Amino acid sequence: PFDVLIIGGGPAGASAAIYSARKGIRTGIVAERFGGQVMDTMAIENFISVKETDGPKLVTALEEHVKSYDVDIMNLQRASGLVPANGNGLTEVQLESGAILKAKSVIISTGARWREINVPGETEYRGRGVAYCPHCDGPLFKGRSVAVIGGGNSGVEAAIDLAGIVKDVTLIEFNGELRADAVLQKKLFSLPNVTVITGAQTTEINGDGEKVNGLTYTNRQTGESHRVDLAAVFIQIGLVPNTDWIKDSVALSKFGEIEVDAKGQTSVDGVFAAGDVTTVPFKQIIIAMGEGSKAALGAFEHLIRH
Ligand code: FAD
Repeated sequence: PFDVLIIGGGPAGASAAIYSARKGIRTGIVAERFGGQVMDTMAIENFISVKETDGPKLVTALEEHVKSYDVDIMNLQRASGLVPANGNGLTEVQLESGAILKAKSVIISTGARWREINVPGETEYRGRGVAYCPHCDGPLFKGRSVAVIGGGNSGVEAAIDLAGIVKDVTLIEFNGELRADAVLQKKLFSLPNVTVITGAQTTEINGDGEKVNGLTYTNRQTGESHRVDLAAVFIQIGLVPNTDWIKDSVALSKFGEIEVDAKGQTSVDGVFAAGDVTTVPFKQIIIAMGEGSKAALGAFEHLIRH
């Protein structure tokens, strides 16, 4: 059996693998796609100590770092279930291939994915004006006009955040009113460079073939179509944690995130979790790495006490 078995090969999983392997314990990592969300990222400018990089470059560096240690990497493998230890102290992880792996401790770092709006232009212009993370991509549009789609807490927070950086922000909400907390709405409506459009269904993200140059929406009351000129569209309609495969085994929050304590311990003894898949606030690469190393140290502490 493994001493530590990590499920997920994004920044959280890679960091957990390195911290575990450095303890000289038997470490394995199962990943559907090594690199995770970072593979889909163009410019990264907030990975502290590296002024500028891109996703594939950072993933190559992560992989090289993990491979410099004795880590059993099982790439292109999907975990489908987890059976908590019963008496023998070994947690079982089932893979879609039918294989069953056993481990004295498990770290879940299966990440999350942004919910998409599925309109023409979204896929074509991803990373070229279609963005999901205001902390990451906001500064790229300094002085330009942008839109935020989604009037929940994350959309309204994004609009407030972006309003301080860009020229102006148009917030588009599908329903007749915003769902964000009152305090956020109050702040939003106090900003001079924000326009809020409710009851609006986005029908297309427009571009010039190279990058985004506008957004088209339908006024759901009148049925009329309108176009707004802008340089970027931030889609903020939810982040979905990849916890379907684990939902019957560990405690999840109402958003489907794995609940963890300060050491990354989940509701199941010997099972830890880290990164975007957990309740940790703020989903970022550097945070996922910190959380991955914390969970690895938590798992190690668990091992030496059992
Ligand atoms: P993930 O990166 O989501 O990795 C999850 C891993 O688990 C993957 O290997 C996946 O294949 C695997 N997996 C999932 N389910 C299973 C399963 N059932 N079995 C086995 N493996 C599984 N953050 C920044 O700090 N700066 C940025 O500039 C930035 N830009 C971004 C741009 C985009 C387009 C996106 C989508 C995100 C961006 N982020 C950025 C956020 C950042 O990528 C995430 O916070 C970070 O990758 C989270 O790391 P993680 O390891 O928790 O999860």
